[in-house]
Order: sequence, then structure tokens, then C-alpha cells
Amino acid sequence: MTSALTEATHLDAPVIVTEIPGPRSAALHAERTRAITDGFGVALPVFIDHADGAVLVDVDGNRFIDLASGIAVTSVGAAHPRVAERVAAQAARFTHTCFMVTEYESFIRVAEWLNARVPGDWDKRTALFSTGAEAVENAVKIARKHTGRPRVLVLDEAYHGRSLLTMAMTAKEHPYRTGFGPFPEDVVVRATNGNRLRSGLDTDEALAEVERVITEHGPEMFAAMVVEPIQGEGGFNVPQPGFLAGLAELARRHGIVFVVDEIQAGLGRTGRMFASEHDGVAGDLTLTAKALGAGLPISAVTGRADIMNSVHVGGLGGTYAGNPIACEAALAVFEVLDDPATLANVARI
Ligand SMILES: *Cc1c(COP(=O)(O)O)cnc(C)c1O
Repeated sequence: MTSALTEATHLDAPVIVTEIPGPRSAALHAERTRAITDGFGVALPVFIDHADGAVLVDVDGNRFIDLASGIAVTSVGAAHPRVAERVAAQAARFTHTCFMVTEYESFIRVAEWLNARVPGDWDKRTALFSTGAEAVENAVKIARKHTGRPRVLVLDEAYHGRSLLTMAMTAKEHPYRTGFGPFPEDVVVRATNGNRLRSGLDTDEALAEVERVITEHGPEMFAAMVVEPIQGEGGFNVPQPGFLAGLAELARRHGIVFVVDEIQAGLGRTGRMFASEHDGVAGDLTLTAKALGAGLPISAVTGRADIMNSVHVGGLGGTYAGNPIACEAALAVFEVLDDPATLANVARI
């Protein structure tokens, strides 16, 4: 088998042949404003016709290098041939059954890959869902069920999603929270992320400050501590060395489930399979989404078997959770990630 990275030659970019946006994009954008809520913003108002690797081609024939990658989603490209093949083949076989109604094999294979690759040298189980926010919400549900405790500790500048609970867990006010309150402030407690520039704290001082917040509220109040190994929506904040490991130690000492949100930073984007590996850290629960499905909606909670299995039968699920087409996309992504050339290439970049 040829390398998944080198088997294709890609279109040159950037190639700009009209003003931006071009005439066809501008016309479509005018139609959009008549059909679609103003609540959706847009970073670059051009309409995409097709993609080739990391190159997007718009409806006017302009080619762009896709530095946004659908917000950290299209790590293997926006039209990887193996993703396209697997997705098309699965769509022709069946599109959906709901895994809670009747089963299919690809759901197991995705779970097995995650159980084997997610950090943590212990027996693991996985639950698949559809979106990142759903994975975060379910991690909180699982941690509550396991601990019998109500609250969740999050960090300054955190991003965990746009659903009601995850919006409360997200730090940035505008545009994510403005006018959408009140928030469950009794549930979500925030502590420093040890960002040296903004907090002025070194690793030990930052960890002491997090522990002060835990003891102020009472450790017995916290089901979970949810952290991103590299924050991506409050600036790109790489934690100080030892900070993540210190948080994991703090959480475990206080009986708090340590949840690592790898939804944005995980699955190869930092040159390691998981960003938490840079600090030698393993979450009790690890969350993936975004790059997992190469654009098909799929997310996962993977973690310690005893925690994952503390939920009663029927307590977890969702109509589209681990949809079979999205599972096939994930299996194609795993083929690319398992190619040794992939992470070497990311590390080189
Ligand atoms: C994008 C993101 C989420 C939410 O994922 P959605 O699929 O948009 O719901 C959660 N956590 C992090 C770190 C993210 O980057």
C-alpha cells in the first residue's frame, strides 16, 4: 500500500482568478441572507464547490489553502479518497439503524481503535456520539453518575461547546454566551489555566490556586475536572510544562474524574496522537470529535472501564450516536493516522 499522504498530487493554491468574493459567491451570499438566520457568522463569504486535500475551490474557480480546516476537522483533507470510498460504500449498504436499536460492526471497530490509542494503561470502554458538545455533556453525566457529585471544574479561557451546559463551561463571553444566560453557575466552577502571560503564575502557584478553588467549594462537590490539553478558543494556550500532570494529580487526589477534552488538539494535530501525551498525561475520560470523522459528525468519550460502566443500561445514547456512515469515515481517518508517515509529517510541519 502506498502512503496515504503521498499517493495523490494536489492542486496548486492559492490561485485567485476573480475579486473576492467572486460574482457567483456574492450572488449566493445575497440569497443566503434572505434564507438563513443572521445568528450564523461567516469568516470568508465564498461558496465552495469542491476540495482537494487542503485546497478549497470556490464556485468562481478560485483556489484557497484551507488553513481553517473546517475548525480543526479536515486533518486528512476535505475530500480524502479513502473517506469518500468508505462513506459511499456504507451509504449504499445502509445509512442508519440507531445503534441502540440494532447493532453494526463499525461501531465496535471505532471503539476498539480509540480504546487502544487513547492514553491510559488500563481497561477502557468507549461511547460514541455525534458532536463535541455532546461528548462533553456525556462525560459530565458519566462522571456525575460515577461520583454522585454535582459540579464540574473548568479553566479560564476554556472552550467546550455551544449547548447550554457546555456554553456555561466555555469562558469567552462574546459571541458564545452573550444574551443566552442565565447559566448553571451552581454547576460550573472556573479556576486559573496557569496562562503565564495573563495570570503571572508559575506552574506550582497555578496548581495551588486551582486546589484553593477546589477546597473552597469542597472536593466532594466536584464530579469532574474538564481541561483542554491545548486551549484553542481563548487564544492558543499551551500549558506550562507539568501543569496538566499536576491537574491530573490534583483531580485524582480529590476523587474528581479527570476529563481531557482532546476534541480540537487530539488525533495527530500536535505531532503526537493525543496532545496530552506531551505532558505524559492520561485522562480518566478522553474526549474526541472534530478530526475523528473528517467532516462526518461523530464524537467519543473513551475512558476507564469502571467509570464508563457505572451508567445504567439505557442511560447513554442518541439517535445518531455513532452513525454508521460517520463510523466508516472514522475508520478511514484511522488508516491515515496509523500510517507512520502521517505523524512524522505533522511533526515536521
Ligand atoms: C469544537 C470543540 C468542542 C465542541 O465540539 P462541537 O462538535 O462543535 O460541538 C468542544 N471542545 C473543544 C476543545 C472544541 O474545540
